[in-house]
Amino acid sequence: MKFSTLLYFYLIVRPWPIYAEEPRETAPACARFRIHLAKELPEIKIDAPSFQSKPLPPDLDKAINVWEEKIDFLKDKSERARWQSCIRQFLFLDTNKNGIPDWTALVDGRPSRSLFPLDPDIDGDGLLNLIDPDPYGTHDESPTGFIPAHLKLTGENGLWQKRLFLDLGVLAINHTDEHVAGTLEAMYSTLRLDSIRNWKKEVRGFDVLYAFNRRNLYSESAAYHPTAHAISIPGNTGFGANLLSSSQKCKFVASILHELGHALLFGIVTADVLREKAIELGGWDLPKFSQSNSESNNIWSTLFFGPMKVQNKDLVSDYAKTNVHEWFAESFAVYVWEKERLDNINCQTFNGKHVSRKLKVWFDALMMKAQGRNLKTIPPT
Ligand SMILES: [Zn+2]
Repeated sequence: MKFSTLLYFYLIVRPWPIYAEEPRETAPACARFRIHLAKELPEIKIDAPSFQSKPLPPDLDKAINVWEEKIDFLKDKSERARWQSCIRQFLFLDTNKNGIPDWTALVDGRPSRSLFPLDPDIDGDGLLNLIDPDPYGTHDESPTGFIPAHLKLTGENGLWQKRLFLDLGVLAINHTDEHVAGTLEAMYSTLRLDSIRNWKKEVRGFDVLYAFNRRNLYSESAAYHPTAHAISIPGNTGFGANLLSSSQKCKFVASILHELGHALLFGIVTADVLREKAIELGGWDLPKFSQSNSESNNIWSTLFFGPMKVQNKDLVSDYAKTNVHEWFAESFAVYVWEKERLDNINCQTFNGKHVSRKLKVWFDALMMKAQGRNLKTIPPT
């Protein structure tokens, strides 16, 4: 595995195959995620031996206990020690001395090899990391224009980038791959579907659209990254063209609806409600949250990441049996597919599939709740 591949997030929603691709012993045990590729990461500080004896942040420590039997690099004692030694180089750095550490290894609810910025403005220059041309240093020049130069796409991609950003509040940027106009256009039309448009702006949690070069349309076509408020999709390398065939577009839209389902869940559904609905509407056999572990009653609970124990013929796809999160996302995608009449002869992904009436009622209610959020901010007249 190349070092550069460590820079990717480990997916929250399809974690197991990703963890199987962990670095070999000779490879670094952790890496920092580059928020954008315009600037190199600063050198690793090797003059901080005191970091190695400091206690880990309590939330990370708890998460290690919760996930130690489920994540390979935590199970293996020597690999775990190597990882801990690696993350300690970064966890206590605080470039702008504001008390918020620059990096966290608790990403998408679990210990991660890929560290993500915890401080939204690492260098304290008043610019959020993403829009800062130099997020780790002292480059103080403010970016001009509503899309900063270092993130700007060109040509047709640039036009879609502008529309996505101005109309829908999503910033599409290149990362380890280059966006293609066809996916940006498909993303735009998907986000403008009535079912999505009405709540997208109210449900926080999806602001950035990355092009990652490990994505392709046939395996991991997209992923949602809650900590980063981002969705990653394939780019030029994944598609091999700037335009999508109608079959590619259809599959792409299906996978985007699935990822938006994850975003909706993290934005608006509490752990208690998810557990209750998964049992009632999905037929999941879930135990109660453990009282002894205060971490278990949250949306990242390991309860929601186990495979289905009881066969339920009503699930919308086999993939929905993976875990409760995937059940929700798949069901949501089918719900929108059906509601928006997206049946397409070019791909059969969700054609003819239906969610149960009760599930539909719940999704309708979640949509209403999401749309209603902005009403609270309007002062009474
Ligand atoms: Zn998923």
